[in-house]
Amino acid sequence: MQTKTLLMIPGPIEFEPDVMQALSTPTTSHVAPEFIEIFGQALERMRELFMCPDGQPFVIAGSGTLAMDLAGANLIEPDDRALVVNTGYFGDRFGALLARYGAQVTHVRAPVGGCPSLEEVEKALQGGPFKLVTVTHVDTSTGVLTDVQGLAALARRYETLLVVDGVCSVAGEALRMAEWGIDVALTASQKAVGTPPGLALLVAGPRAIATFRARKRPVGNFYADWAHWLPIMEAYEARRPAYFGTPAVNLVAALNVSLEIILAEGLEARWARHARIGEAFQAAIQALGLGQVPLQAAWAAHTMSAPRYPAGVDGTEFLHRVRQTGVTLAGGLHPQIRAEYFRIGHMGSVGLSELLATVGAVEAGLAGCGHRFEIGAGVRAAMQAYLS
Ligand code: PMP
Repeated sequence: MQTKTLLMIPGPIEFEPDVMQALSTPTTSHVAPEFIEIFGQALERMRELFMCPDGQPFVIAGSGTLAMDLAGANLIEPDDRALVVNTGYFGDRFGALLARYGAQVTHVRAPVGGCPSLEEVEKALQGGPFKLVTVTHVDTSTGVLTDVQGLAALARRYETLLVVDGVCSVAGEALRMAEWGIDVALTASQKAVGTPPGLALLVAGPRAIATFRARKRPVGNFYADWAHWLPIMEAYEARRPAYFGTPAVNLVAALNVSLEIILAEGLEARWARHARIGEAFQAAIQALGLGQVPLQAAWAAHTMSAPRYPAGVDGTEFLHRVRQTGVTLAGGLHPQIRAEYFRIGHMGSVGLSELLATVGAVEAGLAGCGHRFEIGAGVRAAMQAYLS
């Protein structure tokens, strides 16, 4: 068994050596001039990553769920109505979170692997008004990619805020916050952004900030309250020291390097690379005779895949065998189908070598579990799609 494995799960991902090096540089004071400069740069780069020149970036120690919590805590007041466009586990989570802050939550759901149509969402909006709509750009439990641009246009027509959970999409799937009219987009460091786990990342557009400022009641969450963090983010960006809670100094330094790498590649080029790799994975999965959780090919994400096990293949044994070849994949997450599928994360600095190593490992796992297919069919399909 190999001890070093290629980590191909939907987060955390494999990180760039330069990012890991930044993480391991000696920790400075959080108000040291060199750190203020790093944090200020990272905030400027956040605006570029989210394509939101007039947005307010927040970089706060915590996981992606904290980023969701920031949106819920600061925008919801008791009895506000919220609409959740639900494509899986993380839609359920957003609904539960908003309800905790007193929202009356309506879900627009689809069958597992499906995606509510814009018409269905519009019908739900007609039963409004809703203060906000949330959508999971890529639900990591199903691998379903939603039409965020279309939903943003609807949100503008119905004058409701749109909050995008981009934890499994930002820096991997196309997302243009200002141009599309998104009010809040959020992610976590450990996915396509390419920084080890531990940072909640969020950008709030002008309408979201105005909604926050117009609150009648104080935010019911001390740590997440934008009233505490706004002056801190503004200060660092203006290269001034400030303190509310100690920032994750090393992670912020690592994030700044990740953002530099992402922006040097260019967002369009990065999205196109993820699309190319994602489509090659889809082609390989199909060639191996496996189904997928997304019910339509157009709904399959480019940052991850969710293949179904073929009949007779046991998931625990399959994942173990794959790991023995030196690749780590993830099991199922959606409670209704947990044992029926597995998940491959393909985001960050993924390229041809990760694609082929992973498809090869999947073939080895399937063959070891007795699935009958032509050895090499997946690798060939992946290569053909990659080169086409
Ligand atoms: N939303 C989505 C779409 C996610 O994939 C995840 C993490 N898998 C989260 C939210 C929550 O992020 P975290 O685990 O970092 O709290």
